[in-house]
Amino acid sequence: MPKHSQTHLNPRSPLVLDTRELPRRPGSMRTVNRVAPAPRDLGLELIGVPEGADLTLDLRTESVSEGVLVSGTVSGAVTGECGRCLRPIDDSVTVTIQELYAYEHSTTDETAGEDEVGRLQGDLVDLEPVLRDAVVLALPTNPLCRADCPGLCPECGAPWDELPADHSHQQVDPRWAALSQLTRKEE
Ligand SMILES: [Zn+2]
Ligand SMILES: [Zn+2]
Repeated sequence: MPKHSQTHLNPRSPLVLDTRELPRRPGSMRTVNRVAPAPRDLGLELIGVPEGADLTLDLRTESVSEGVLVSGTVSGAVTGECGRCLRPIDDSVTVTIQELYAYEHSTTDETAGEDEVGRLQGDLVDLEPVLRDAVVLALPTNPLCRADCPGLCPECGAPWDELPADHSHQQVDPRWAALSQLTRKEE
């Protein structure tokens, strides 16, 4: 038996689509273009969309026999930290979304598993779970400021990128140091 989510969607929430304007006749379409503030924790530990940052929604809602198909792209800025050198990363992400939201009590609603398709709640579609999954999949688990980031000097912890090319902490072996002094005296 399908379980209906008990959360009540707020139709004014920027990530909730109201499909009242979409005729429930298969083939009917509406475009949705809006800018919504990003919800909390949209992303991964080291990189994500900052809360409140602009998310640009460029979506299409389409009536199908069992519900509403939502497809299109969502893009936004991402900030994070390089996994090697810990310096800040400023980037952007664009994800493609395609999700069927079944009408309540449609065959799909009654037969599909909870994770297989979305559900309309009345006329409302909650985009947040699908958006969250898509963004998490699109972001790197080990973000880098650039593919060949050399990381940090293990001795002093400074980013190699900010150190001179000959940076080193090599301790000259005392025996060799004595030898090199001898050599210098001979010169
Ligand atoms: Zn880096
Ligand atoms: Zn160093």
